[in-house]
Amino acid sequence: MSGRELAPYAARPERSRGRRHREPPPRGRSDYQRDRDRIVHSTAFRRLEYKTQVFVNHEGDLFRTRLTHSLEVAQIARSVARSLRLDEDLTEAVALAHDLGHTPFGHTGQDSLNACMRPYGGFEHNLQSLRVVDILEQRYAAFDGLNLTFETREGILKHCSLKNARTLGEVGERFVRKQRPSLEAQTANLADEIAYNNHDVDDGVRSGLLDLDQLAGVRIFARHMRAVLRQYPRLPPRRLRHETVRRMIDTLVTDLIRTSAENIRRHAPASIEEVRLAQPLIAFSPRIREESQELKRFLRENLYRHYRVVRMSTKARRIVTELFAALRSDTRLLPPEFQEQAAEGAPRAIADYIAGMTDRYAILEHRRLFAIEET
Ligand code: MG
Repeated sequence: MSGRELAPYAARPERSRGRRHREPPPRGRSDYQRDRDRIVHSTAFRRLEYKTQVFVNHEGDLFRTRLTHSLEVAQIARSVARSLRLDEDLTEAVALAHDLGHTPFGHTGQDSLNACMRPYGGFEHNLQSLRVVDILEQRYAAFDGLNLTFETREGILKHCSLKNARTLGEVGERFVRKQRPSLEAQTANLADEIAYNNHDVDDGVRSGLLDLDQLAGVRIFARHMRAVLRQYPRLPPRRLRHETVRRMIDTLVTDLIRTSAENIRRHAPASIEEVRLAQPLIAFSPRIREESQELKRFLRENLYRHYRVVRMSTKARRIVTELFAALRSDTRLLPPEFQEQAAEGAPRAIADYIAGMTDRYAILEHRRLFAIEET
């Protein structure tokens, strides 16, 4: 927390609702620092390097992966947390863990696996992130999972259906009671939005799927690009793009801090318990909210539905769906450690196996199962 005192409404490690399995307190670091450290050391975290958001991993070396995305989210979230005197370590832990449960191939992978799992309770990446840190990581002698604090786990579970919430014990309670998570979790959540909107613009233009003329029709981009061009009329396109994106991030972060500080001042929560009962306090101003949504819509229509992205998605869907069907028809095709779990519940064990795959591993495994010639 960098020498500044935590605000009364911040999460406090010494007042944490604790871990599922009792452990001696950490030495020389707080419980939230320990959570963050455990996340960074996990296998699922390292796999993020080879999982994608929009572009498939082998498309190019310069695009964001889920790992660099998570680092960008953490960096933005920490700046906001520090300004608002929240616990930076908790904010960082939630940001770094928020995508741990993501399937290969971004949203298409998630949607495809969800469709395969529909008869067996569905698949939801948020819930899967929690499952990774609660159960699937196997590295500690005394317990399954990473045994994180309640506050980190609650932050990871950004949304959840009521039906699922009822099966999750204390971490699901807030959905039943319609309460809010910590301000640290709210901050990580909005930092996620700032990060992906901006890096998708950047990657979209870099890949040639979007161009600056199209983006000139999006208010928040146009406004910042005009300001850059007024100051630097002859700036080459690549630097124009970077400078515009940089300024957009700055505007969004500054607005988020200003609006949230104002909300906090108005509601004056005296503790994290009061935060849980209030409206969401970490928020954009109405104008920036609207502009940010316009940008999101633009990306959906022009980037995520671009025919080249759709082609990639179609292949990704086929890979996930065919992998699931093959493994479902014969669980002996699973690696031994998953066969054991498959004995208890085959579809869920298969979903865990597929969700844990990186893009390239899924492509390779698909080839191993379906190619007739030697691979
Ligand atoms: Mg994310």
